[in-house]
Amino acid sequence: MRRENEIYCNRCKKQIKSRSGIAQEGLFHAETDWGYFSEKDGERHSFDLCEDCYDEITEAFAIPVERVRLTELL
Ligand SMILES: [Zn+2]
Repeated sequence: MRRENEIYCNRCKKQIKSRSGIAQEGLFHAETDWGYFSEKDGERHSFDLCEDCYDEITEAFAIPVERVRLTELL
């Protein structure tokens, strides 16, 4: 969740360390625009998760997260 230049984990409310709105620690940001075939047509949803919450949620997946080793981190 973004408020001014602060970022919070939507799941646990932990404040993510950030500088000028840029995360300075692990952060998962999701954003999706729901379309015609959904029940949320025309809505944009977004949320942020701290790394601990991301790990807890994704560890419950029946199919693991797909991982690719980035050769060059941006
Ligand atoms: Zn969290």
